[in-house]
Amino acid sequence: MSFSDLGLAPELLRALTEQGYESPTPVQAQAIPFVLEGRDLLASAQTGTGKTAAFTLPLLHRLIGGEAKRTPRALVLVPTRELAAQVAESVRTYARHVRMRTAVIFGGVGMGPQTDALRRGVDIVVATPGRLLDHIGQRHIDLSGIQTLILDEADRMLDMGFIRDIRKVIAALPKQRQNLLFSATFSGDILKLAEGLLSDPARVEVAPRNTTAERVSQSVYNVDKSNKTALITHLVGTGNWRQVLVFTRTKHGANRLALQLERNGLTAAAIHGNKSQNARTRALADFKAGKVRVLVATDIAARGLDIDQLPHVINHELPNVPEDYVHRIGRTGRAGAEGEAISLVAPDERKLLRDIERLLKRKLDAGVVEGFEPDPNARAEPEEAPRRGGGRGQGASRSGGGRSQAGGRGQGSGNARPGAGRGNAASGDAAKPAGARRRRRGGRGGQSRQQGRPQGE
Ligand code: AMP
Repeated sequence: MSFSDLGLAPELLRALTEQGYESPTPVQAQAIPFVLEGRDLLASAQTGTGKTAAFTLPLLHRLIGGEAKRTPRALVLVPTRELAAQVAESVRTYARHVRMRTAVIFGGVGMGPQTDALRRGVDIVVATPGRLLDHIGQRHIDLSGIQTLILDEADRMLDMGFIRDIRKVIAALPKQRQNLLFSATFSGDILKLAEGLLSDPARVEVAPRNTTAERVSQSVYNVDKSNKTALITHLVGTGNWRQVLVFTRTKHGANRLALQLERNGLTAAAIHGNKSQNARTRALADFKAGKVRVLVATDIAARGLDIDQLPHVINHELPNVPEDYVHRIGRTGRAGAEGEAISLVAPDERKLLRDIERLLKRKLDAGVVEGFEPDPNARAEPEEAPRRGGGRGQGASRSGGGRSQAGGRGQGSGNARPGAGRGNAASGDAAKPAGARRRRRGGRGGQSRQQGRPQGE
């Protein structure tokens, strides 16, 4: 099957050829004919499957064939600013050879330029719900001409608490319209939303519900919390990885880790909700350009990041919500590329791992990296280091603080010993605190006792 078999407009086919797309991905092959027919659609597709083009291409085709107006004809609702920017970028890419005006609407930046764009007239609006409602409230936008509504990553929007905003936006749309709903997972809430929104929808399912992209190889390394940063440094250094996305659970954690990796000699940047839009855009651009080797992100900030052929994803901590694991590893192995997802699991994260395995319906290969085996005498440390006084280094507030010499201070200590380790200067050995290595000797690794507080010894 080729894109021309789908009957897309020649201007779109030209743009696809220029993009180097040879054939439609499964979600595109299945969804495009339904959308071209004007049907409502319920699509199960996670990021990386080519879902953006699956709705954008037939949408553009229909808009090209329709009559241009002053008011927008299509609305794409997305959960995050990043996804908004990236969907709009995709729209502009595919619409390169046609006259189509797109506005991107999201919060965290001034309203002025968005209002100006809306005033000049647009065909397609890509928006996050909250800021769109602000514009609706201030009458900057007239939605009475919307013919197609697309909810992208609907599960994320619900997770982020947007359901009421979404309903308010829908109430401002004309009743007669086409509706497309894309979601990676299908909870009861999503199905309820779909039921109220979609009329006789076609269904497209490319990845079975809640399963992980098969092309991503997934592994687990058991490691103590205090050694995780050193292990990341080691993996990136010895593997000579050029582009790695690392997930942390908290914004603080993301900042801390980026800083520690920088100290260990890797270029790193953090991307999360507390950063300005400009800072996020810059970090992403630097990462894409290869100026930054490690991008550290929280779940929400990473949502919608479109990075072609991202080969490595590392979970610095496992997510609390098992579905987030699926979203995270969906960042690699995109559109047919091979990908690798590695999860660093401390003894006290075993339960989270079991939850994830239950969701995936399979066990993940678990092992240890030589030199980074968990200390069998360590007790499980708390999930999240208590934030005392805010902003202090992770090492300072962890329970291992009083352990032998540098060992317990762990990754934050800046205790790098260049030249001490194997291989690459930026490798984990070089970055590992001396005490950490000493402690490991004699330990079998793999298991960790839950009892006994090392700092009380
Ligand atoms: P998405 O799932 O929409 O985030 O798309 C994932 C990635 O796949 C994006 O980087 C797209 O540029 C790329 N992509 C989408 N469709 C195709 C295709 N038919 N052939 C090759 N790459 C594609």
